[in-house]
Amino acid sequence: LFITFEGGEGAGKSSILKKLAENLEDEGYDVLTTREPGGIDIAEKIRHIILDPSHTAMDGRTEALLYAAARRQHLVEKVLPALDEGKIVLCDRFVDSSLAYQGYARGLGIDEVYEINKFAIEDCMPDTTLFFDITPERGLERIEQNKGREQNRLDLENLQFHHTVYEAYQKLLKKFPDRISVVNADQSFDDVLEDVTTRMKQWIHS
Ligand code: C5P
Repeated sequence: LFITFEGGEGAGKSSILKKLAENLEDEGYDVLTTREPGGIDIAEKIRHIILDPSHTAMDGRTEALLYAAARRQHLVEKVLPALDEGKIVLCDRFVDSSLAYQGYARGLGIDEVYEINKFAIEDCMPDTTLFFDITPERGLERIEQNKGREQNRLDLENLQFHHTVYEAYQKLLKKFPDRISVVNADQSFDDVLEDVTTRMKQWIHS
C-alpha cells in the first residue's frame, strides 16, 4: 500500500504522518515512512541543492528535472523494495507536489511536468493520496509559530505563490478524483489524526 501526503506549507502533513506511522507500528503493522525530496542519501543531496536559499538563479525546468531525478532514485532505492516486502509506505509528498509547484505555480504546465515524471516513475503511482486542505494564510501562520522548522528557498515566495499552489491542488483533485481525497487540515491535531486513521484502516482492510 503506497500512500502519499500532499498539501501546501504548514498543512501539518509531516507531523500527522509521523504519529500515524507510530500508531500503526504499535498495532503491529509494518510501515515505512519517508519524504520527498529526499528519503535516501542521493535524493537528500539533490534536496539540498534545490532548496538552498542562495540558489535564487535556479531555472524552473532545472528544478523540475532535479525533483524528478530525486524521485526516481528514492522510488527505486527505497519505496519499491518496501512495497515488495509488503510494507505500508507513507510518503510525505510525491509526484503531485511537482505537478502543483513546478507544473502550475512555476508555470511549466501540469501535463508537461507529468510527462517528465512518467519517465521517472514509470507507472508507479500511489494507491491513494491525501490532500491536507488548509488556506495558505492559515498554513503560513502555523509555520510562523513553528520556529524549529528548517528554512528553505520557498520561504522567499509571497502569499500569491502559495495561493497558486493551493489552486493547483484543486485542479489535481479534479484531474485525479479517484486517487486523491481531501482532509480538512484546519482542525486540531487529534481530529486530523483521527480522520486520517479511520481512512487508513479502511484502505488497509479493503
Ligand atoms: O514538505 P517539505 O516542507 O519538506 O518540502 C520542502 C519544500 O520544498 C517546501 O517548501 C515545498 O513547498 C517545496 N517543494 C517544491 N516542489 C516540490 C516539492 C517540494 O517546491 N515538488
